[in-house]
Amino acid sequence: MRLITVCLLAGVGVISVGGSTGWAQMCQQYVPNPAPNYTDEKAELFVAKHVPHDTSNIECQVPTNGWVRKNNIADNSNSPPVYDNDGYRIHLKVLTSGGCKQQYWDFWWGCQEVPSSQTYRSIGGSPIEKLSPSYSYVGPVQPNNFFNIQTLDTRNQTGTASTGLSVQFLDEGSYSFKSDTPLGVTSCSFSPSNREALFTVNVLECKPEWYVNVAGTLNYHGPATGPIVIAVPPGFSGALGAAKAAASDWAAALGRDITAVETTCTAGDELCIELDDDHGTVEDDPEGCASLGPASYDTNGVWTGRTRVRFEPNWKGAHADSLRWTIAHELGHYFGLWNRQDGSCGYDTTLMKGGNCYGTSAPPAGTALGPTASDVSALVNSTYGSQGRSICGW
Ligand SMILES: [Zn+2]
Repeated sequence: MRLITVCLLAGVGVISVGGSTGWAQMCQQYVPNPAPNYTDEKAELFVAKHVPHDTSNIECQVPTNGWVRKNNIADNSNSPPVYDNDGYRIHLKVLTSGGCKQQYWDFWWGCQEVPSSQTYRSIGGSPIEKLSPSYSYVGPVQPNNFFNIQTLDTRNQTGTASTGLSVQFLDEGSYSFKSDTPLGVTSCSFSPSNREALFTVNVLECKPEWYVNVAGTLNYHGPATGPIVIAVPPGFSGALGAAKAAASDWAAALGRDITAVETTCTAGDELCIELDDDHGTVEDDPEGCASLGPASYDTNGVWTGRTRVRFEPNWKGAHADSLRWTIAHELGHYFGLWNRQDGSCGYDTTLMKGGNCYGTSAPPAGTALGPTASDVSALVNSTYGSQGRSICGW
């Protein structure tokens, strides 16, 4: 440890560094104890749902890469407009820890950084929204203990409606924010620093669901790369056109090479999905009119063998668009989505709402026959992205 000799004589400080002087016997040593050890903790940002003007009624919060429900304007004749679901507040939590002690004569002094102010600003997203600076707030300093962790946490403020930053998310898409938290120092010669935090939330109208295990820790899905084949075996040529259309829709949505070919899969090919028609004939088959045939998977939830789109035996004679929807829906399971049955979802906003697999007439007008932007977002930003699945607002 580097020692700094501090000499005080008649109230005048004389400092020499790294050695002793003739005054040494009159000096007390300045001993960083412990050495300055600020952990470079980044600030965290949270988005919390709230009932307007009642900050005690915070229902949920999401970490970065979480999912929040879009706000809809129900009545635009008021100012501000009335929303059909609650707005959100952005909260900030900053941790600073560590510090040092210095000894002058008989006294120990503490010195550490303290958060002095905070500013939020948007750095992008859809739409790009300029957020005005919020307010300054210094978190509670724990009394009589200079060296514990200090926190600045806007969620701890109570009794004021201005806690955090109120926002509405009026468009689907990803919103990104950045916060600045300048840190001042109470004493000593540490350089003031600045904590920055980046925060992104994904905004959707329809509640996302992923194909996960019971514990919710694993999201089953196909490999992230490689050409995918929908194998149309003998006896299924009546579904070839529907399979080609479904393959084309998914290929365009994900930027992947996905084709439908008259062939069969080899058992170990995780990039191959074969049509079959035994759904409902095997004990413990899931409910519904079709299913994705099971496959083995690795520790990351990635399929390690062939999967199947399993029709019911009575599929023949169905409208081509019904088959197209059915195959596309089951491919959604292959890629990692689960059924999206929440009331916030409609057949126009997601492919993953349950439906009639084998209707002899076309699906209702407006039905998405392939993946929607909402379906793609849930895959790109979670299954094939951060794997974040925290949701708020539904
Ligand atoms: Zn399904």
